[in-house]
Amino acid sequence: MEKVDTVIIGAGVIGLAIARQLARPGKSVFVLEQHDRFGEETSSRNSEVIHAGIYYPSGSLKAFLCVRGKALLYNYCEQHRIPCRRTGKLIVATTAAETGQLKHIYSHAAANGVRDLQWLSQEKLKEKEPAVTGIAALFSPSTGIIDSHTYMQTLLMEATQNDAELVTGTRVLSMSCNNVQDGFLVTAVTNGETYQFHSRTLINAAGLGAQQIATDLPGKTPIPPLYYCKGHYYSLQGSCQPFRHLVYPVPEQNTTGLGIHATLDLAGNTRFGPDTAYIDTVDYRMSAEAPESWYAAIRRYWPALPDGALQPDYSGIRPKLQQAGEASQDFVIQGHETHGLPGLIHLFGIESPGLTASLALAGYVESLLEGQDPREHLQ
Ligand SMILES: Cc1cc2nc3c(=O)[nH]c(=O)nc-3n(C[C@H](O)[C@H](O)[C@H](O)COP(=O)(O)OP(=O)(O)OC[C@H]3O[C@@H](n4cnc5c(N)ncnc54)[C@H](O)[C@@H]3O)c2cc1C
Repeated sequence: MEKVDTVIIGAGVIGLAIARQLARPGKSVFVLEQHDRFGEETSSRNSEVIHAGIYYPSGSLKAFLCVRGKALLYNYCEQHRIPCRRTGKLIVATTAAETGQLKHIYSHAAANGVRDLQWLSQEKLKEKEPAVTGIAALFSPSTGIIDSHTYMQTLLMEATQNDAELVTGTRVLSMSCNNVQDGFLVTAVTNGETYQFHSRTLINAAGLGAQQIATDLPGKTPIPPLYYCKGHYYSLQGSCQPFRHLVYPVPEQNTTGLGIHATLDLAGNTRFGPDTAYIDTVDYRMSAEAPESWYAAIRRYWPALPDGALQPDYSGIRPKLQQAGEASQDFVIQGHETHGLPGLIHLFGIESPGLTASLALAGYVESLLEGQDPREHLQ
């Protein structure tokens, strides 16, 4: 039976960043993807925001990998001429209570290593973003946007230059391990034909599919539950593009999302969202009209939003590890020390800021495989 060095399941931004990290001339590294192209799921259904790392719990993997990943990603974009822009982001308070929350956000961000936030008075906010109504704001200059498709294409190009291969149209059905010396037995199907091979190293970066394919493998730690949490986007119709920065409300406390915010794409178009809606099955459909509650939420910071101006754009699904109302969970990255199987890495719950964190996360995975302390290694 064929034996390869490394198999990475999933050609989203995480699988591709890991492929780039692990690829070496002469080493057999395969990325297996069920679709006909890379990046067809969550990696092309997000806000394309390079996050600063403001809100995540201090000490969490999300905070650690976001802050490091952001710096790595801006450098990478510069080196490889990947379109990106440091647009900056405003977090806008519209009530006195929200102004109080801004102060907490400011100190929380600093604890995460985000020390460049600027406090804006009402006047300064008006100068920066005249269309926005608020009584105070925080400005994050290191938040930006990226062309995620070109980014993924570049990761793939670098990986293949070092002999890695993308195998599309190939769905992994299961993986098992009888004997660690033999590596992992992968069962996959391409064009209706099922085949098996062994891999010494196996990376499960299957996003929404990660839990399902992990179930046959023995392991000392349980597989975390998976909940689908959909986010819808509605774009702004018409030629008026009101903002120059990304505009976010102060997040409502004890909610899952960041509130209905405005992001820009690199062409300067404005879109709003994503919201948070737990669903039972993967379903990307959109309703034709944005709910009235969206208009009300946006008008709190942009009263000039015209009636009927929101048109359906697209949706994405977050692989959440907690149900609605439960405490937010961190990324779960399981290596040898957690499940006891050398050469196997599972990545679960890689929701936002996965795109921002991708390069740092790939370095983290490599450190785990090499038996190093990944946090030390990535300092
Ligand atoms: C609404 C939304 C907004 C977001 N906004 C941002 C943002 O602005 N900034 C940011 O940093 N992050 C953001 N994120 C998070 C970011 O998009 C994800 O963290 C990232 O895309 C996850 O990449 P991935 O490779 O793990 O998953 P995916 O892109 O889903 O890739 C997994 C791949 O595995 C494949 N696969 C699954 N099962 C199998 C199988 N059995 N066999 C073969 N292939 C399989 C899938 O087809 C898929 O291509 C957002 C996410 C969502 C949902």
